[in-house]
Amino acid sequence: MMLDLAKLTFDSETISGVEVVKLRDSVGAEHEVECDVRVLVRNVAETFRINGDVRGRFSTACHKCLDPTDVVVESSFELVVQRLGRGLDEEVVDEDFISLPFGKNELSLDRQICESIIVSIPIQSYCRDSCEGLCTRCGTNLNKNTCECAAETDRRWDALRNL
Ligand SMILES: [Zn+2]
Ligand SMILES: [Zn+2]
Repeated sequence: MMLDLAKLTFDSETISGVEVVKLRDSVGAEHEVECDVRVLVRNVAETFRINGDVRGRFSTACHKCLDPTDVVVESSFELVVQRLGRGLDEEVVDEDFISLPFGKNELSLDRQICESIIVSIPIQSYCRDSCEGLCTRCGTNLNKNTCECAAETDRRWDALRNL
């Protein structure tokens, strides 16, 4: 998303758009996620305070049963942009601070949008809170089917008890 400070006409303005973020989920699959981006820009004496909200959705594998499951990722970022006066042209690009040389009005928010989304990806996602997962012995999806493995284990205990 490009921000053109010269086009801002009010002291406070909200800009919305859609940004595609390439990311890798917790199981290593790559996604191109269309993110809704909402940016509030406040201008106080040529210093711009930017607050961004980013929201995206993609499908990944449930951590327990491997079925496809939707993940909604929400994040936010803050950035301060200072527009430098004539003669001061040292451009500073920091984590959350950017100074723009005199005459430069455009800046890209792509890095902030990508980074804020990527650090917000959950490490584990589940298809539902009560997911039963896969049987560790035979691999049956226990949300959909039952298997005899648990019963067999129980019978072994019975044999031990009888000793
Ligand atoms: Zn699951
Ligand atoms: Zn089993």
